[in-house]
Amino acid sequence: MATSEVSDEDFQEILAQTRHFVRTAVIPREQEILAGDRVPDDLREQAKKMGLFGYAIPQEWGGLGLDLSQDVELAMELGYTSLALRSMFGTNNGIAGQVLVGFGTDEQKARWLEPMATGDVVASFALTEPGAGSNPSGLRTKAVRQDSDWVITGQKRFITNAPTADLFVVFARSRPADADGAGIAVFLVPADAAGVQVGAKDAKMGQEGAWTADVSFDDVRVPAEALVGGSEDIGYRAAMISLARGRVHIAALAVGAAQRALDESVAYAATATQGDTPIGNFQLVQAMLADQQTGVMAGRALVRDAARQWVTGEDRRVAPSAAKLFCTEMAGDVADIAVQIHGGSGYMREVPVERIYRDVRLLRLYEGTSEIQRLIIGSNLVKTAQKERS
Ligand SMILES: Cc1cc2nc3c(=O)[nH]c(=O)nc-3n(C[C@H](O)[C@H](O)[C@H](O)COP(=O)(O)OP(=O)(O)OC[C@H]3O[C@@H](n4cnc5c(N)ncnc54)[C@H](O)[C@@H]3O)c2cc1C
Repeated sequence: MATSEVSDEDFQEILAQTRHFVRTAVIPREQEILAGDRVPDDLREQAKKMGLFGYAIPQEWGGLGLDLSQDVELAMELGYTSLALRSMFGTNNGIAGQVLVGFGTDEQKARWLEPMATGDVVASFALTEPGAGSNPSGLRTKAVRQDSDWVITGQKRFITNAPTADLFVVFARSRPADADGAGIAVFLVPADAAGVQVGAKDAKMGQEGAWTADVSFDDVRVPAEALVGGSEDIGYRAAMISLARGRVHIAALAVGAAQRALDESVAYAATATQGDTPIGNFQLVQAMLADQQTGVMAGRALVRDAARQWVTGEDRRVAPSAAKLFCTEMAGDVADIAVQIHGGSGYMREVPVERIYRDVRLLRLYEGTSEIQRLIIGSNLVKTAQKERS
């Protein structure tokens, strides 16, 4: 079994510091983040100092080196507050960073991972396009070889952290899909390369302070060294593996947000009254709390098991999708119940559960919708059974 670079003792310290940061520094600023649509610079600086921009980047490349079992414990703490906090460094550690960690050459890792781990470089993962979201194998961004360079042209959309990105991890078609593969390569494109244009910040339903935008690539010329892993054939696999790992992390984030919605609900139910009776004394309200508590406990257990199976290599296909599907749907249900328990107050902007309700909606959409998770789980189960029979 693989062991983490970080001892349990050191990890407990990292976890305690993160919990302290979230609960004492970030939670009191949630309304400021929401109203200003930005994570304040001093919180960004604190996160940088704590190593949060590189907690899942190996120590060799300047990160904290947490494995996925440790990552999910951290994510459950980060999910307890505005999800914009985690989003600020989520792409460096997750979908963008893991492409480099898993598939980059040593030169590419040395050039990019160290500044990503310190937060001096923000990396964005640029896969989705109009017409290629759930099915990225249909992407149309093109990479054409010219002499030893590559020239990239295409449109990406909904790219997290694009407005602040220094680096885009860009998936592009270098040849048509054929029996040998999807024909998709992945490139490291500096945000200041000629021909890269980032659109206006998207106006989103929730997660204020986390920014997304369209990104266009218009004849963007990059050198041969920009091709991740030095091979045209790894792009699609790198995206799928990075996304699968990310799903376990998103599931943990959902559990953290659900725990917060539950805690807010219990506190409200215990104190808010109707006719001098605390609403928590009503059994129908207790039933709602019971459903929330049960969902959170089931989600936490599932996330921990999926992370363990990722670390051991036992299951990196079905378990990540099952965890994301269950936990993100559960967080949606728990947040909905939390609004219900708060009555009319739950619909008001200054109440945390109103924000959580909107924040968690995204978790069922990105890094694979719930429908796509169901397809992954079902198709893998059938394929495995068919292989065993043949
Ligand atoms: C805030 C935000 C941040 C994002 N950040 C990033 C990012 O950093 N990088 C990035 O590359 N992308 C990012 N995305 C894109 C995100 O991953 C996609 O939006 C998502 O995968 C869904 O793709 P789509 O929007 O094209 O919807 P579609 O794929 O068109 O889906 C529409 C509906 O059809 C269903 N559907 C689609 N295909 C099937 C099928 N085969 N069977 C059954 N149902 C199906 C879907 O489940 C969904 O209900 C982000 C999106 C948002 C909203």
